Amino acid sequence: MISRIKGTHDLLDVKLFNLIVDQAKHLLQNYHFSEIITPILEPIELYKRSLGLETDIVSKEMFIVSSENEETICLRPEATAATMRAFLEHSIQSNPWKVFSCGPLFRHERPQKGRYRQFNQVNIEIINSSAIAHDIQLITMLERFFGQILKRDSFALALNFLGCYNDRQSFKGILQNFLISIQDQLCSQCLIRKEKNIMRVFDCKNQTCQALYAQAPQIAQHVCASCALEWQQLQEQLSLLSVSFNYKPQLVRGLDYYDKTVFEFISDNLGAQTAFCGGGRYDALPQQLGSDQQVPSVGAAFGVERLMLLLEPHLNQLTFPVQPALHVIIPFTQEQQRLALLLADEMHAANLCTDVFVEGDSVKSMLRKANKMGARFALLLGPDEHTAREVMVKDMVDGTQETIHQADLVMFLKSKN
Ligand code: AMP
Repeated sequence: MISRIKGTHDLLDVKLFNLIVDQAKHLLQNYHFSEIITPILEPIELYKRSLGLETDIVSKEMFIVSSENEETICLRPEATAATMRAFLEHSIQSNPWKVFSCGPLFRHERPQKGRYRQFNQVNIEIINSSAIAHDIQLITMLERFFGQILKRDSFALALNFLGCYNDRQSFKGILQNFLISIQDQLCSQCLIRKEKNIMRVFDCKNQTCQALYAQAPQIAQHVCASCALEWQQLQEQLSLLSVSFNYKPQLVRGLDYYDKTVFEFISDNLGAQTAFCGGGRYDALPQQLGSDQQVPSVGAAFGVERLMLLLEPHLNQLTFPVQPALHVIIPFTQEQQRLALLLADEMHAANLCTDVFVEGDSVKSMLRKANKMGARFALLLGPDEHTAREVMVKDMVDGTQETIHQADLVMFLKSKN
């Protein structure tokens, strides 16, 4: 037996998955976002430059597919860098470019509940806008999606502000001094981060380090005047729009491309992985990708599987699309199978959801099977019906039966739907 790859999963019932994606698409279209699709294969260079060499994703979680003529190709681990690549590559002029994409991503992480090696995200980007109003609208839209549309109330929004590039450069010095003052109490990982990617010390899982960082200087308190104003506007406007948030000075979101606004939607009902959506501003990303264009942007992504974990205990609060009524054709013997296929063909052409039982079971067991499948009508085709060009239509809800001429069948069923 060959089993699936570790950290991947087979989704044998896609109702909830599709509900999340369909509702998200509907909402995003209402907010005037357009859908795009970018490749699953991308050059690894894209992520080395955008996410940074010292991030977990680039340093240890990439799925490398091939390496040819000095171009190493990988399975995409996230979607923002590729969306920006597409923006630059196609010289898009929209101001802003409001787009979203849905699809699988790949990270070679240690699998656990809510953490997979292949998972799906809905990724939303507002590219080419420096307006803080877009950060506010993005966060408000996501809050509406999780709260009002998916009807969850057990989540919180964590928010931080990382300032601009210059703010971060000067803050790194302040943080460095703080870390030096406590360095004999830090874990070995944090000592490495302190040298290589200092802001990431805040991502440390070690309890002792976390307790020490509660006293650390906070970047939002060390930003320039224009950033301070934006940070204030962000908080005020969110409050005005009744979006509650928790200021979380340790939230830096791992990747190198973030600046200014960063946020995460978190829930305690997800096990060790508490975040189900994360995002922020990435004004410097185009430069990291080698562009000389200024393309300030903000974006977010949520994991479909993590949202599914949150929603599974509350399915009764969601409204799933109504399934079309199922019609099952039951030929009594081999002789009626040809006719059954012809009738089914006519019904499919008329857009009626139809299945034919051709396994040759007894009529009784076929009826039982139709019942189990939730069929609305069973269409019985015995030798008598065959000869008389009729069908016995059995209403599976009230058990009544009616003989209908084959030529009138589609019209009859249409009138019942
Ligand atoms: P990130 O791209 O790391 O900011 O993640 C954004 C969202 O994607 C997270 O909040 C999760 O919902 C989801 N996500 C990230 N990594 C994984 C993973 N390994 N397995 C499942 N979902 C993930």
